[in-house]
Amino acid sequence: MAHPSLSEIPHLLQRISEEARAHFGEGKVANYIPALANVKPNQFGMAIACVDGSTHTVGDAHVPFSLQSITKLFTFVLALRAEGDALWQRVGREPSGAAFNSIVQLETENGIPRNPFINAGALVITDILTSRYVQLDYALLGALRRLADDPELHWNPEVARSEREHADRNMAMAYFMKSHGNFHNDPALVLDNYCAQCATEMTCAQLAQASMFLANDGRDLTLQGQPDEHFLTADQTRRVNALLLTCGAYDAAGDFAYRISLPVKTGVGGGIVAVIPEVGTVAVWSPELDAKGNSVLGAFALERLVQLTGWGYSSV
Ligand code: GLU
Repeated sequence: MAHPSLSEIPHLLQRISEEARAHFGEGKVANYIPALANVKPNQFGMAIACVDGSTHTVGDAHVPFSLQSITKLFTFVLALRAEGDALWQRVGREPSGAAFNSIVQLETENGIPRNPFINAGALVITDILTSRYVQLDYALLGALRRLADDPELHWNPEVARSEREHADRNMAMAYFMKSHGNFHNDPALVLDNYCAQCATEMTCAQLAQASMFLANDGRDLTLQGQPDEHFLTADQTRRVNALLLTCGAYDAAGDFAYRISLPVKTGVGGGIVAVIPEVGTVAVWSPELDAKGNSVLGAFALERLVQLTGWGYSSV
């Protein structure tokens, strides 16, 4: 299939948006914390940031939303930069096949979470970063502001507070891992950091921009030609993308790989970021979720995008 030229992308986005909007009402907005339950359901935005520096958007692509689990991608990348392969002593890299907040595998696997993108794994990653940074929220925001080239990025204190008040299960996982020696800081402190991290807000346009290094061999385009241009090495980038493909969509990772065939990270705020190596990144947001916690319209839109463009395996 011939891939679309850049000039065709606006029309393509318009078409996908119209088709996607027919699916409003098929999912449910996350309701595990009041701050997310109040988000208006009928919203849809999509942005494509291309490695040539252009960005194309449709619908609510400039409305900020709660990143939630999508932040696990960025904290994982920060930990990988800091720890390298030593990281794999504390967290695995296999799909979990269980719910994002499942505790059961921790018992059979000696407190080592299956991968960095389920809650238990993300908590270990936040624990690692808590040991590294006195103020992790600033370190993370600093990295995101650099990648998105936007000094205004922030996290939402109301969402973080609400999250923290409903963090009993995450806290239980942290203590369980601590009992196995796989948690080094005070769980309460790590949970504060984790809840702030999940409450980071971005628009689709910002998220596509911030993830661009994953489509570009680890290079941060905003620093092109400068000594710290590489946010990750090309080899690390390939590995992050492999993990996103196999573990990025909770226990629907297999279904996403079948339907969309791109590295993705989803979040219960209704966002999804997808990587099309050497082409660009796509961020899509619509708050209604399916039973596994993934955006209904977001998954639909990405599936249509790869069907209509042939982007994916055939583009690399
Ligand atoms: N803050 C959420 C939690 O820890 C993240 C959920 C998600 O997006 O998967 O439960």
